[in-house]
Amino acid sequence: MFESQYNDEMEAEVRRLEAQMRAINAGHPEWVNACAACGCELSGTNATTCEKCQ
Ligand SMILES: [Zn+2]
Repeated sequence: MFESQYNDEMEAEVRRLEAQMRAINAGHPEWVNACAACGCELSGTNATTCEKCQ
């Protein structure tokens, strides 16, 4: 139970850091996430690309 929750939190943290890295690579470190393909801003941290690039 605890381990499962811990893993979920780790995965969420990894997603957040990866999203932050994409934003930095796109030239906008103030964003929470950016499209990996075109570099536009994404509002959540779950997606790696925008709707156009999926
Ligand atoms: Zn895109």
